[in-house]
Amino acid sequence: MINWVFKKILGTQNQREVRRLTPLVQEINRLEDGLRPLSFEELRSKTSAFRERIAQGEGVDAILPEAFAVVKNCCRRFTEEKRKIRVRGQEIPWEMIPFDVQLIGGMVLHSGRIAEMATGEGKTLVATLPTYLNALTGKGVHVVTVNDYLAARDSEWMGEVYRELGLTVGCLQHGQSQAERRAQYACDITYGTCSEFGFDYLRDNGMATTPEDQVQRGHFYAIIDEVDSILIDEARTPLIISGPVTVSTHQFDKYRSSIEGLVRKQNSLCTDWANQAKEKVEAGDLPGAGRLLFKVKLGSPRNKLLLKFMEDPGTRRAIDDAELEMYQDTRRTELYKTKEEMYFTIDERNSEADLSEMGRKFLNPSDPNFFLVPDLITINHDIDTNAAHSAEEKLKEKQAAQANYEEASQRIHNISQLLRAYCVFEKDVHYVVQENKVIIVDEYTGRLMPGRRWSDGLHQAVEAKEGVQIDRETQTLATITIQNYFRLYEKLAGMTGTAETEANEFKDIYRLGVVVIPTNRACVRKDADDLIFKTRREKLNALIEEIKKRNAAGQPMLVGTASVESSEIISRMLRRENIPHNVLNAKYHQQEAEIVARAGERGAVTIATNMAGRGTDIKLSPGVPELGGLHVVGTERHESRRIDRQLRGRCARQGDPGSSQFYISFEDDLMRNFGDSRRIAGLMTKLGMEDNEGLQHPWLNRSVETAQKRVEQRNYQIRKHTLQYDDVMNQQRTVIYSWRTEILTTEDPRKEVFETVDEKIGAEVEARAGTDPVDLDGLVHWANTAMPLGLQKEDLQNAGGKDQWKELLKRRVREAYELKVKFENPEAVKALERYVLLGAIDRLWQEHLYAMDGLRTSINLRAYGQKDPLIEYKREAYGMFEELMERIKGEVVLNLFRSASSLSAFEHFLAALPQRTGRGELPVQAQPTEASLSMGGGKAGAVEEALAPMKRQGPKQGRNDPCPLDPNKKFKNCCGASGSKVCFKVAA
Ligand code: ADP
Ligand code: MG
Repeated sequence: MINWVFKKILGTQNQREVRRLTPLVQEINRLEDGLRPLSFEELRSKTSAFRERIAQGEGVDAILPEAFAVVKNCCRRFTEEKRKIRVRGQEIPWEMIPFDVQLIGGMVLHSGRIAEMATGEGKTLVATLPTYLNALTGKGVHVVTVNDYLAARDSEWMGEVYRELGLTVGCLQHGQSQAERRAQYACDITYGTCSEFGFDYLRDNGMATTPEDQVQRGHFYAIIDEVDSILIDEARTPLIISGPVTVSTHQFDKYRSSIEGLVRKQNSLCTDWANQAKEKVEAGDLPGAGRLLFKVKLGSPRNKLLLKFMEDPGTRRAIDDAELEMYQDTRRTELYKTKEEMYFTIDERNSEADLSEMGRKFLNPSDPNFFLVPDLITINHDIDTNAAHSAEEKLKEKQAAQANYEEASQRIHNISQLLRAYCVFEKDVHYVVQENKVIIVDEYTGRLMPGRRWSDGLHQAVEAKEGVQIDRETQTLATITIQNYFRLYEKLAGMTGTAETEANEFKDIYRLGVVVIPTNRACVRKDADDLIFKTRREKLNALIEEIKKRNAAGQPMLVGTASVESSEIISRMLRRENIPHNVLNAKYHQQEAEIVARAGERGAVTIATNMAGRGTDIKLSPGVPELGGLHVVGTERHESRRIDRQLRGRCARQGDPGSSQFYISFEDDLMRNFGDSRRIAGLMTKLGMEDNEGLQHPWLNRSVETAQKRVEQRNYQIRKHTLQYDDVMNQQRTVIYSWRTEILTTEDPRKEVFETVDEKIGAEVEARAGTDPVDLDGLVHWANTAMPLGLQKEDLQNAGGKDQWKELLKRRVREAYELKVKFENPEAVKALERYVLLGAIDRLWQEHLYAMDGLRTSINLRAYGQKDPLIEYKREAYGMFEELMERIKGEVVLNLFRSASSLSAFEHFLAALPQRTGRGELPVQAQPTEASLSMGGGKAGAVEEALAPMKRQGPKQGRNDPCPLDPNKKFKNCCGASGSKVCFKVAA
């Protein structure tokens, strides 16, 4: 009450914000009045005048009222002249002049916040205001849309304004060439989807080998349309560019059939229990039945009989009681025992699978420990305390134990992913199989996501289950989370109809405030209470009846579903009733946009997953308002309240009439997993729900909402978790990417090369000088094997101390390098130097990413051992990164003399090395083979393409090819060197 009074007096924060901006609205409108007498030419000239002022140092904020007025005036002129604009092949007359609330929305976007504006309020137009203003700086404004179709549509539609005012507009589309993309980014304004922007960033920074390969030109200001779907829903799957790994470690095919057997065993076990439970129920022993069914839930959560029992409030409560009891701390051992009575357990909520002793025995009767992670700590302890073994033996034993541990982890990981694939991931719900490929279905939107893959081997496990071609195991070549991509922007803004429920997350993670903008006209939508049914069947039957009734009256309906599967079920039922309808699954954006646009016509029935046709306006046709406007039905409450609000928001736009209602049942996933069944069952008895009719009560709505809040909280934690891990990667990525950019853009790559080489020399000298006695031999050996320096021990002995050694080495390297450069094609030298650095960075960084993937997997196993996995992860990741930097330096040193623009340049250099160089022996991985001579072998797929211009500038030279100096011998042993060494032969 007090809160209410308080709000009334002071106005909520939102209202205050809106009120604060109102004087500016008046100012814009006044300025716009003043623009009316101008000629179009004069209006256009404002753009260059603004640019001039910005060049003189004036801030964009100061220009805002005038710039917004110019855009508004331009819209007025278009409206007055009824300008026709070609949008996606259709002529659309322009008939919009920004309303005052739209001007406010534009200002909120300009200030780097999220504007929550209901569907149909014209956010597309709102974005033009801050976009125009900020594009005046020339730094490039990015407008991010949810799909390619909308990017094209909006850039054509709104592009008319920008172009008229003298700005350029570009649009990214999937499949554009590098040159095309570059041209789009070069425009003042670029429209595109978040994947296009994000992948371009990864390619620019992780793969481009020349500045010309890069397409983006910075991250100044981005406006994200449907910001919640991008920053929240999509944020769970990071953007990954991957390529096949050279060695495959997975064993999914190997274990597939035994896992199938295991799952079959478990299923029959669980069905037995469920049947016993049935007997117990009949005998009146509810608690006993509850305990049995709880076991079924642990072992086979999607068991048919179990699902039946879950519908019944009585047995449902018994199951919940049994569960509650078992999870009490005092019952730990009992829970453990229960778990040991089956082959494995499945945690549906956290989608995890765990093998039990029984399961391990089934899979490998002779050695159940085969599927147990060895206890490395104890093993190492035992090795250490074994007095009978020498230090050397102990080291060997430890190495063997470590290898064994890694192998076992891998094996267990494979098994557990297979179990998840079989028991948690359902075909046509979580994924579909098309053309021999497993394609993920986005659980939020029902949209197919071709090209995306579950990480961590899960995708291959599902491929194994479905018996489709298991894609070669891929490794990450470059990756970034959507969160971290958008954090790159100096200024970020977003708009959506539904941001408020997630305001905290926007604030915490993106530092984005949310301002709710009032609608232009009051919303008159009627939201009915949810209708709750016991079973899904009853629910769907009632739903079809409702559709029949309203359809007979001619009222259009939009039926929102949570999955492609349920869209299809409803469609089938409607077909049986001969009710014509359209089904949209967000597969064909353009086509579906056209269908959705007509969803407000008399008698239309449109079934859509919630992403389908998003961004398309549903206008009512004549006569429909009298019927009550568009009626929206949700066939299921979504995990997130936000998605439900989105669905509701599809009707009653701009003051139209409209209504909405959700149909739910106890069999819905949300209710099964997160519903507080006890309370609801209690309520139902109290409210007298005994028969098959749906029940409606505000209390029930609240219970459902509680369940949703619970899931939202959990999903937020998951996203936060992903982000915490990615933050570690992000720091490392920033270091590597900025180093790369430096190398790409510097005019003097040689300086970079020598800085790196000098650091390595410094580190080597320090390491050898730090031992007692000083390891001069080691230093000489290192220098001569890594580089053709022909260093003698006496040279060092004569030189003095370690500082002099460093100087001597640095000087020798430079002399040798100058000699090498003499034989190079002068035009190739810079590229070659860049390659020396990039080749090392890219190869090792990708190896590092692979290792980090491995770390991510193994770190979760440690969660069992009392350690905080995140802290462990950070600590180890830091160590690995330091190691990576050292290895890169080492590789640069090795690359320096082994990269040549052609073999003949290389031969001449070898021949010209002075006599004193003698015979340096080179480790085999450093031999001048294809990898170094051809400048960038060893990588596949996308990277290979990216490197294409750099590749193969020299002829191939393998270890078994003839030696360039002595054609009678093979290269690898032309002067008697053998085994793991090849010679750096110098002509005498
Ligand atoms: P949103 O993205 O907010 O859901 P859209 O940008 O798709 O809304 O616009 C919805 C409809 O409103 C479009 O048909 C558009 O032409 C119309 N519209 C937007 N702004 C105005 C305006 N100021 N005056 C008249 N119609 C407008
Ligand atoms: Mg929109």
